[in-house]
Order: sequence, then C-alpha cells, then structure tokens
Amino acid sequence: MIRLSGLKLPLDHPAEAMPAAICQRLGLEPHELRGHSLVRRGNDARRKAAIQLVYTLDVDVVDEVAVLDRFAADHEVRPTPDTAYRFVAHAPDAWRGKRPVVIGAGPCGLFAGLILAQMGFRPIILDRGKVVRERTRDTWALWRRAELNPDSNVQFGEGGAGTFSDGKLYCRVKDPRFLGRKVLEEFVAAGAPDDILWEAHPHIGTFRLVTMVESMRRQIEQLGGEYRWQHRVDDLVLERQGDGRQQLRGLVLQDGGVIETDHVILAVGHSARPTFEMLHDRGVHMEAKPFSIGVRIEHPQSWIDRARYGTCAGHPDLGAAAYSLAHHCANDRTVYSFCMCPGGRVVAAASEEGRVVTNGMSQYSRAEFNANSGLVVAIDPARDYPGGPLAGIAFQRHWETQAYLAGGSSYWAPGQTVGDFLAGRPSTSLGSVEPSYQPGVTPTDLSRCLPPFVIDAFREALPVFGRQLANYDHPDAVMTGVETRTSSPLRITRGKDFQSLNIAGLYPAGEGAGYAGGILSAAIDGIKVAEAAALAMVNDKV
Ligand SMILES: Cc1cc2nc3c(=O)[nH]c(=O)nc-3n(C[C@H](O)[C@H](O)[C@H](O)COP(=O)(O)OP(=O)(O)OC[C@H]3O[C@@H](n4cnc5c(N)ncnc54)[C@H](O)[C@@H]3O)c2cc1C
Repeated sequence: MIRLSGLKLPLDHPAEAMPAAICQRLGLEPHELRGHSLVRRGNDARRKAAIQLVYTLDVDVVDEVAVLDRFAADHEVRPTPDTAYRFVAHAPDAWRGKRPVVIGAGPCGLFAGLILAQMGFRPIILDRGKVVRERTRDTWALWRRAELNPDSNVQFGEGGAGTFSDGKLYCRVKDPRFLGRKVLEEFVAAGAPDDILWEAHPHIGTFRLVTMVESMRRQIEQLGGEYRWQHRVDDLVLERQGDGRQQLRGLVLQDGGVIETDHVILAVGHSARPTFEMLHDRGVHMEAKPFSIGVRIEHPQSWIDRARYGTCAGHPDLGAAAYSLAHHCANDRTVYSFCMCPGGRVVAAASEEGRVVTNGMSQYSRAEFNANSGLVVAIDPARDYPGGPLAGIAFQRHWETQAYLAGGSSYWAPGQTVGDFLAGRPSTSLGSVEPSYQPGVTPTDLSRCLPPFVIDAFREALPVFGRQLANYDHPDAVMTGVETRTSSPLRITRGKDFQSLNIAGLYPAGEGAGYAGGILSAAIDGIKVAEAAALAMVNDKV
C-alpha cells in the first residue's frame, strides 16, 4: 500500500471526488487505482472562504513500485508503515517472580498495567483513589456541594487526571514504534469512538472515558492483573546494594501494610505532592522542572466558530472550533493557550483542602455553550521558584491558596471579565458570558492570585490575541483562576533502563515523573516503562 498524505478537497465534496483526486495527484488512470482507505482527516481553515478537508489515505494501486519511484522525492507519497504493536517479552510459564506493582491507575499506569498483563506478568495496580463510578460521585460533590475529598477527585482515582476531561488524544512526542496507534486501538477496543483512529485531533469526552477505563480494567483482571483501590503508597522498602545504589524491595501503604515487590512503576501523576515529598526524603534523585501558570478563559463557542470558520461555522465536518494561540511579551514571558476545550466547561480540579485549581473538560459532543482554554505563562525553576526539587509545589500551593481566599474560602473560584482586567479594576459583577466553573465564581481581581509578571503578560497578550481571533479580548469574556497543574513541577530522574538513577527496581513514569504531558503521551510512556520492567524481570537481574 502507498500512504498518501496532504490530499486536499473542499468541504461538502462528493464521495466520488476522492478517487478522482487520488488519480490526479498520483498521475494514475482510473483502472490503476484498486482502492483506498482513510488514515487521517483534518481541515485547513486558514482561508475561511475556502476551507478544505485534508486527507491521509492508504492507497492500493496496480503498480506500487512504479508509483513510489515516480514520487521518490515526494514526502507525501510513502510506503504504508507497519504500525502493528509487537510485545518485547512474555512471562515464562514457570515464572514465579514477585509480581510487578503499578502505582497509579491514570493513563500511564493503566497502559503499563495492560501491557504487563498482556505479557503474562499479572501486575498489581494500586490507586489512592476509588473506582471510577464512586469517584465520579465524589467529584460531583465538590462541583455541586463544595465538598472536597482529598483522595477522590478530578486528580485522584480510576482513570487518573484525564477522566474528567476533553479526552484530547494527540501529542507531539516522537513515536517511531507507533505506540500511539496501540493506545488508540486499545481505546477503540474498550469502547472509544473509532473516529479517534483517523481524526486529526481525536477526542473522547468524559462519559466515554468512564466506560472505557472500566472495560480496560476488566481486560486486565481477566489476564490475571489485580486492582486495589484506596491504597495509597506512603513509603518504600529499600535495601542497600554493594554498588551503593539502593534496591527497592517493597511498598508501605497508608495503613502500614507492606507489599513485597522488586519492580514498581511509579505513575502517580502531577498532583501526588505527599508522594513526591516522601520520595525526596528517601533520597530518590529528582529535579525541579518548568511548568506554566495562569487561568481558564471562556467565550461563547459560537464566537470561536465564527472567528475560525466564518460562514462555515457549525458545519458537521468541522465541529466545534478549537484554537491555539501564543505570544512572547515585552517582559520576556510567553503567554499561550493550553488544553483548549471546545464546547466544554471549566472544572474544579483541586485535590488539597483550602486550595482552588481550574482545568477544562467536555463531552464527546462538545455541545456545551462555552469554549474554554487555559491561558498560561511558562515559568521555570531558576527564575521563578529556585530552592530545590520541591519548590515548584510550594509555588503552586501559594497561588492556589490565594485563589481559594479570593474566591471566598468555599471552593468558589475567583473570576474577572477581560474588560475589567484590561482596565485594571476588580470585577464586581460578570457580563454576558456566564462562567461554567462549579460550585461558583466570585467576581474579583485576579491580580490577587497570580504573580505580577503573569498579570502584565496577560495585559499585553489579550489584545494581540483579539486581533488574531475576533472577540477573544471581548470585555465580557471571563477568566477563572487559577490554572496551576499544567504539568509536573519536577522530574524524577531515570536512566536508559527506565529505572530511577539511584533506586533499582523503581520506574518513574508518566506526567508526574516528568516524562509526559497529556493522556496519549502518558499512555505511551506507560507502555515503554512496562516493556523495560518486563525485560528486567525476564532477565531477572534482581
Ligand atoms: C481536568 C483535566 C482535563 C484534562 N484534559 C486533557 C485532555 O483533554 N487531553 C490530554 O491529553 N490530557 C488532558 N489532561 C492531562 C492528562 O489528564 C494527564 O496528562 C494524564 O492523566 C497523566 O497521566 P498519568 O497516568 O501520568 O497520571 P494521572 O492521570 O495523574 O494518574 C495518577 C494516578 O496516581 C494515583 N496516585 C497518586 N499518588 C498515589 C499514591 N501515593 N498511591 C497510590 N496512587 C497514587 C492518583 O490517584 C491517580 O489516579 C487533563 C487533566 C485534567 C486534570
């Protein structure tokens, strides 16, 4: 097969236009084209008056060699790659080693657990949170009654941070082994819509994510894996080795119980602060890492659709419009849009008492009234939170507490209209754009809960974004804060064998350890680390 990418056709093109376009692009006679299948569909909306659909296809032609020769210099015409996933190891039948343990049932832990189970290693998966349906109730309790459960919320529990999300499934990590394809295929097998396999910007939405993680749990259990909920790892059992490196021998749980194991995948996510503090006390090598801080900004989705698609706004092949914005400011700060959620809502994503945190989610339909996005500024340890690996956590906690206070100390979030913000005055009421954050938004002054350099950068960037996307800086657009959990504030250092630099048998993985940003890249990292642990177990270096 030949993989043909970048084939453009107008919106509403008839089906028969596709083979004709393929023949014209590849210089084929109609009889030389045997068939084609869809690999990817995106859109090019740079010219609103002539929006095009952009296709990647696998094409079956009579003389493949001749076509590939003819287009040897054309990067859009290539042999179809082999994207099949191949296991790197299998547990030997007689294998009776200690079971590997995965800490965290988020995308990283889920895929590490799945791959280990599919390889026959019968993993134990621990999570401090609850099974997804109970967790959903606890999360709604915060959103509806301002009752936070520090162990069961948007950050903690089955499915991890990504469960209450837009479920966007794309990332920029290099993926020469097409592990991302394995992830998407497993998601479809677990009930995700199959358009995630060919949409350029696939997303699943929250309710579907819930049933999917349940289905994947059943598969892992059928393969001999085991889940243990409300099991929080509070300490490590370590044994010093001759070479000075320590060897992990077990895990200590919050009730003092011990699980013996020599291989642990640490997939605890970016909000596992007490665990990071414990690991730091235990001398696990780690370093502070850059992340970003800001707010969530909301506009009516119709404004964004019109700004992006003009008269084609609402076209079924385009769906709710997304955007991506970035601006480098005079104060040498970069403001950019983060985790944009079309047709979604802003959610309370706190996991610690007395703190307020925002994030965004949407359903598969993306049919809610507002569009929302993180509007954030990149920060880094040397410049903004010097003081060691845990300094970023202290920085986050400080501003989350300020937001809690500015919101009225009730998990309501502080909010401000763009008009008041740009005019430098506190909001006393909100305008025509109704904020979606629950339990509620308190009109106030966001400069009370963000560093001054962030406020200055926003004041410069918003009018710039307003020129790029009509109405982006509309006075009634509303900002809700604070967005602090954009990625992990630290990295737990690992070697080429994916093990901690100084603790053998500990495999730092996913977003929390600083090796992923988002559902897909976390899942891909989970596969890689599970493979490394499997190879070590098979070779039984321990
Ligand atoms: C509201 C929201 C919306 C998002 N939307 C998107 C999106 O649309 N697309 C996207 O790509 N990304 C999105 N993200 C980011 C994405 O969710 C994360 O990047 C991803 O979940 C990271 O996966 P992970 O498995 O590394 O960690 P997590 O998903 O954070 O999972 C970590 C798990 O570890 C558990 N844990 C922590 N400490 C312990 C302990 N000591 N003992 C036992 N268990 C522990 C936690 O309970 C948690 O379940 C969103 C995040 C949030 C919060």
